[in-house]
Amino acid sequence: MKNQVLEAYVGLQWGDEGKGKEVDEAVDRSKNNNKKTIVVRYQGGTNAGHTTYVKDKNNNIVKFVTHAAPSGLASNVDIAIGPDVAFNPVAFMDEVNQARKSFNYNGRIMISERTPILFDYHKKLDAWLETLSTKKIGTTMSGIGPLYMDKDRRSTRITFEQYISDKFPDRLRDVLNLKARELSALKSNKYLDEVIDEILAVHNPVRKELREMKVKEILEYRLADYQKEGNNIIIEGSQGTYLDVDMGTIPDTTSSHLLAPYAFPSLGLDRRDFKIIGVEKLYPTRVGNGVMPTLDEKDGFGKTVAEIGGEKGATTGRARRAGYPDWVLIKRAVTLNSCDGIIITRADVAQNLLVRPCVYYEYDGTKNQEVPLDISKVKPIYLGEISVQDGSFYWTLWKDNIDLSDPEKVHDVLKDKREFYVKNGFDSLPDGLKKYIKLHDDCVGCKTIGVSIGPGRGETVRIN
Ligand code: GDP
Repeated sequence: MKNQVLEAYVGLQWGDEGKGKEVDEAVDRSKNNNKKTIVVRYQGGTNAGHTTYVKDKNNNIVKFVTHAAPSGLASNVDIAIGPDVAFNPVAFMDEVNQARKSFNYNGRIMISERTPILFDYHKKLDAWLETLSTKKIGTTMSGIGPLYMDKDRRSTRITFEQYISDKFPDRLRDVLNLKARELSALKSNKYLDEVIDEILAVHNPVRKELREMKVKEILEYRLADYQKEGNNIIIEGSQGTYLDVDMGTIPDTTSSHLLAPYAFPSLGLDRRDFKIIGVEKLYPTRVGNGVMPTLDEKDGFGKTVAEIGGEKGATTGRARRAGYPDWVLIKRAVTLNSCDGIIITRADVAQNLLVRPCVYYEYDGTKNQEVPLDISKVKPIYLGEISVQDGSFYWTLWKDNIDLSDPEKVHDVLKDKREFYVKNGFDSLPDGLKKYIKLHDDCVGCKTIGVSIGPGRGETVRIN
């Protein structure tokens, strides 16, 4: 089908790469084929957050953050929730109602009948488990870990189908009985009936709303129909590759499978029909605990970009630590996700600074491009240390070092400057940035297809 957009977006680092914004751009592009567009979430829960800048009813640029819903909600298109998502129905309905109020959201919503439901007790268990642990994971306390434990245990999983059915109170009672031992650790003296009444008081209005909206679907078939009809499907990852439960930086990972290829079997779609696009923030950042090999506390690059770029987690508001670009990490992420292209974000934030990419790791007496499980033993080797030419890059998109931490404030000031590059394309970018991208692509083994120079829609320079 002409111009049909079938794309999956995945973060190549530890999250907050700017996937929400790139998905929003893809949604905008998908309008070219005059068909419907759906944005599908395939894993994670409210521990993720996507920030998008959109126009409200009065045409003002406003920030819209989604945690439970795919970012497509902010773009006013159809949205779907896959069966591996930790689904918080209360948070989801809050976001949907907010979107209805802000810009009359009227898209179709589909939720897999299999999706597991997250309750308040998952959050309490999350907090309790974190207090027991001698080595804290730095969880967002959104209950995601305990919910995935319930899903794997099967007997204590409540599916979306069960949640909206009339038999929900009985199912809830069974599950709470099975979990009685664990829940007793929360030291609540409440009787089971009281706990059930409390849960029902919060969830009954939401269940009613969701039932009336008729959103429950055998999702794999509906998405296949959607694709066959020539519509656009955009799959949105949350967090990033290095938080994947198996392939991330263990033990500091989330509890779900984040890699893009996992999306396809769970959504019943064919990977061969889709383009997988890795979203890479020019410099890596981390919230929570965990080692970052290129974290630089000495000469200030990390601190400066974190300050200029206002690096704070969309979910927790915690400060993000930033470091030099790490192409060794990206190379592995490209392979694990089988990426077809990369979009580099925040090239504007790193302008007017000396940018040094890490191209090898040294550990156990070897120098190579493999990421070991224990990355604390790794010493980064920067391009300048192995090349005869200078291994640092420098570019100026606009002269002033403008504080970009409040995008709404600087949007009008920078609008024309950003539009210039987007209109004139890759060739118009400063030489330092073009050289950076060329060497980057050679090193990581994947082509950069876009460079983002601003947080808003239409601020990504496309590369053919
Ligand atoms: P996500 O979870 O990957 O969607 O990322 P977040 O929403 O947590 O964080 C990305 C933030 O960076 C958002 O506020 C974006 O609007 C912003 N952003 C994305 N790309 C760019 C860019 O190229 N330049 C600037 N200055 N900000 C960007």
